[in-house]
Parts: sequence; structure tokens; C-alpha cells
Amino acid sequence: MAGAQTALTVANEQLRIAAERLKLDSGLREMLASPKRSLIVSISVKMDDGNINVFSGCRVQHWDARGPFKGGIRYHPNVTLDEVTALAMWMTWKCAVVDIPYGGAKGGVCCNPKKMSKGELERMTRRFTSLLYDFIGPYRDVPAPDVYTDAQTMAWIMDTYSQIRGYSVPECVTGKPLSIGGSEGRAEATSLGVVVCAREAAKQMGLKLRGATVAVQGFGNVGWNAAKISHDLGCKILAVSDSTGGICTSKGLNPYEVYEHKSKTGSVMNFKGTKNVTNKEILETRCDILIPAALENQITKTNAQKIEAKIIAEGANGPTTPEADRTLHEKGIVLIPDILANSGGVAASYFEWVQNLTRERWTLEDVNRKLENKMVRAFNDVHRTAKKEESELRTAALMLGIGRVADAIKTLGLWP
Ligand code: NAD
Repeated sequence: MAGAQTALTVANEQLRIAAERLKLDSGLREMLASPKRSLIVSISVKMDDGNINVFSGCRVQHWDARGPFKGGIRYHPNVTLDEVTALAMWMTWKCAVVDIPYGGAKGGVCCNPKKMSKGELERMTRRFTSLLYDFIGPYRDVPAPDVYTDAQTMAWIMDTYSQIRGYSVPECVTGKPLSIGGSEGRAEATSLGVVVCAREAAKQMGLKLRGATVAVQGFGNVGWNAAKISHDLGCKILAVSDSTGGICTSKGLNPYEVYEHKSKTGSVMNFKGTKNVTNKEILETRCDILIPAALENQITKTNAQKIEAKIIAEGANGPTTPEADRTLHEKGIVLIPDILANSGGVAASYFEWVQNLTRERWTLEDVNRKLENKMVRAFNDVHRTAKKEESELRTAALMLGIGRVADAIKTLGLWP
């Protein structure tokens, strides 16, 4: 996007704002700005045509003062080390905001998964896992899905890790299929958390969720499930989009039918009874709740003034720049920041890990009840901090998360 800041510039600027308000000393600030470890690997893959392609991959382990590293793996042609570093940093704050005992990490492979066969993706994933093997594991670093990786990708990671170890280690990765130790509710957890946060914010504003109008950017795991859950709770879905473009209708659309249409045609566009729109227009939809659920840097200083939502619940990581944050705040829009709004995903991942470590199985009701409790508590913690600090929710969430991580680092001390 023209003139957009990089994710890392945004993450560093957010850290600067929170650290200043928390009055952290300069040494600690520098520690928090620097990932503990960044691994870059070259992944050689035999392609279906017999040629060998070498893909560049990385894993950034930001901070683990509160527990093992945790974070997704992204397959995308635009993956860079800087972007993955920003995403790892946000994971550290997020785990602290939702108060689970993990640090933050992220991984990525620069590739175009849409142009690769299942076999090529499997070979790339397994080779990537073997290259990361010494640095990941149940008590070190536990990967999960992110953009264009899914439960199948996690199954390949678990199998490769387990084959090298010599026994089955389901707790080495989360977001797995149910048949190999995945958790009930994990697939919808991020979106359920997004909707629970939007519901809590709406409650504070005297707005009812039933009948509220919703626009969703991105129709992948987070976007589709967020549209589905809000539709099931009685919201009216006005617009959705994916990488090809978007659709809108003032009558409200049925996300289940759109999902079926996308499964058949590969796109949400040209869905019956709707108008095709651009991704830019989706964000400018007049609605009660806007859910960006695609990629970073979508709401910037260029379009923030045109946003017509009452609440923005960030399903995606880093969709809003700090400049846009200021504009949205001035416009009176309540923004629920990514590190709070989408933390349901990592909270459910934590539940999956606990079930794997204890060899237990929880029911969907158990998982959703625990998840809802965690999300409501995190929302209230952030809301209380915002009131106390007289800040918007983003700064409050950053202060809460970064403050908890800083406390942990100080308590552990520096060795040697
Ligand atoms: P996904 O791959 O399942 O879906 C991504 C969606 O975004 C797809 O529908 C794709 O078509 C769409 N998209 C891609 N580029 C776009 C563009 N330029 N404009 C509009 N749409 C575009 O990924 P996901 O798991 O749903 O992740 C989406 C976002 O949520 C990412 O920022 C990710 O980091 C974040 N997130 C995901 C989880 C999770 O549990 N999956 C948890 C927390 C945060």
C-alpha cells in the first residue's frame, strides 16, 4: 500500500509510546525492541517437475520471560524478516495481555502457496521443520497456523518433529487436526475472541450486538469464522472481502452461502444479490463493527478519515498504523487492538497444549467457556487500564502487555 509504514516501524513506534508511559529505562527498552534469536534458513524443495527450488524461511523468537515461545507460521510471497519480527513482538505482548504463560515468536516462508501443489507444500513444511528442529519443541517454541497455513500444515510439523524424536510429540505444535490431538474449538477461537471483545465494547457503548451491522475484510480462517459467529448471534453482515475483492449488500448476506460460493469459485466476488466492491471500499463501509481480518497496514493515514464504523475489532495483526490510530480516536471510533481482539487464537492454542501435556480431552463447551472467561477478563483488564491511564484501548493494551513482560524480565534478572 502506497506510503504505508512497515509492520516493524509500527511495532517499534507502539513500543516507544508504551515504554515512555511506563517509564521503562533505556536498557530494558532496548531489550524489548530486540528479539532474543532470529533464525534464517534456506529450504531446498524438490518440486513436482523435478527441479529444486530454494525458499527463504525464518523463525523469530522475541521474548520468553513468561514461558516458551509461541507463534504462528506464515506462508506468503511478501514475507520478510522485518515483518516476522514485528509479528513476533506482537505475540509477546498478546500472550501477556491475555495472561497465558508464553513468550512471543513468529515464522514465515517466502513462497506463493497458491501456486504450489499439496506435495510441494508438504515437502517444504517438513524440510523447514527439520531446519528449525533444534530450536522448537514443547518447552522451547510451539508453532501454530497463520496466513496460508492450516491444520494440515501443523500435522506435517508434528509428524516431522515426532519422527526425528522417535516418539509422538503432539504438544510440539498447536492448531492440529482433532484426530491427532487438536483441540475442540481451536479453528473458531480467534474469531470467537474477536466477537466477544466486540460484544463487550458494544455493551460499554450501549449498543446491542443483535441487529448490529458488520463488515469483514479477509475471508480466511479469522474473517469467515468472525462473519459466521456474528451472523449466528444476530448481526447483519453488510460486506466481506478476500484478496480478489469484496461484496456488499444493505440487506445483509449469509456468510455460510458466501463460504460455499468461495469454495466453488475461489473468490467471494460475484455472489448473487450483492455488489462487487474493492477492498478499499470494504473498509469504508458504514457499519457498527468493522473487522479487518486480512493483513497488516490496511487502515492508514490515507483512509482513516473515511472509516465509518463505531467499533473496529482487529482480527488481523497490525492492520492499523499509529497515525491512523490517532485519526480514529479523534473520530470517536472505539478500536479494540489486535493484541487483545485476536488473542483468543493463542489462548485456545494454550488450551490445546495443556490438553496434550496432560493427555486430556476437553469438550467444546469446556474450551469455549474457558475462552470466553479469558477474553472477558482480558478485555476488562485493558478497559480498566485505559480508564486509569486516560488512554485509548491500544495504548492501554500495550502498557498492560509490555508492563507484564518487563516485570518478568526484571524479576528473572540478567544472566550471566
Ligand atoms: P488465512 O490465510 O486463513 O486468510 C487470509 C484472508 O485474507 C484470505 O481470505 C485472503 O484472501 C485475504 N487477503 C489476503 N490479502 C488480502 C488483501 N490484500 N485484502 C483483503 N483480503 C486479503 O489467514 P488467517 O489465519 O485468517 O489470518 C488473517 C489475519 O489474522 C492475519 O493477520 C493473522 O496474522 C491474523 N491472526 C490469525 C490467527 C489465527 O488463529 N489464524 C490468530 C491471530 C491473528
